[in-house]
Amino acid sequence: MAGMIAVIAMLGWLSGLAVNLLADSLPHSRRWAGPHCPGCTAPRPPAAWSSLLAIPLGAGRCAYCGRRRGLRWPAVELIGIAGFGLLYARDARPATLLPALLVGFTFLLITIIDLEHRLIPNVIVLPAAVVLGAIGILDPGRGAVKVLTGGLAGAGSFYLLYLMGGVFARAMARAHGRPIDEVAFGFGDVTLAGLIGLIVGWPAVVLALLIGILAAGVFSLGHVLVSLLRRSYSAFTPIPYGPFLVLGASLVYYGGRALFQSILLP
Ligand SMILES: [Zn+2]
Repeated sequence: MAGMIAVIAMLGWLSGLAVNLLADSLPHSRRWAGPHCPGCTAPRPPAAWSSLLAIPLGAGRCAYCGRRRGLRWPAVELIGIAGFGLLYARDARPATLLPALLVGFTFLLITIIDLEHRLIPNVIVLPAAVVLGAIGILDPGRGAVKVLTGGLAGAGSFYLLYLMGGVFARAMARAHGRPIDEVAFGFGDVTLAGLIGLIVGWPAVVLALLIGILAAGVFSLGHVLVSLLRRSYSAFTPIPYGPFLVLGASLVYYGGRALFQSILLP
């Protein structure tokens, strides 16, 4: 038992390290790069690869530029360990655990990159769509029709929102006499909505995206109120939508049928 816990913790920790590495390299180079300092891009020595180990060992600062490592790196390693452990405890059967781990890995990576760069790279979404779509199609509980309808519904509905956002931005630009380059939805949100549709399938995608839009709306409202109180209000401060869509999708995917039914069939 203790051995199993150690193996799970180790795998979770390695997953966290992998998420950190990909989040550091993909937005810049579109491909995997070795552990490096985000400040000066100097490669990190193996002793500094893990922030959980490096910070207590006094290697939290880059040896070249002195940049201190942010909280994201150790936090993601801890989330990897906790997430792996929770998913293993929830259902250890490989047919459930492996997709659940892949979905968690993808969602965590997308959330971090969207928060840090306002970007949802295709280099993550497209391979994830192929792999997780195939897993859903092969799953007897979902099948091709549910999975593909979910993907089309997710991407299609967000593509319409994306087009409407463009029309709105052009109208506002005309009204204000200056271009407004910040749009509500980016195209990355369209691809993410499609990926979420493939993952949770039809009709769960409707609930997943509605929760995401609602959560983003509540957050924006809070943000506007706080800005008004601080007298720093700007109508065009964009918020990254990805983390909210991931939140809705996670609730539906991990909450499963129980959550779906408790909301639709009270
Ligand atoms: Zn550095």
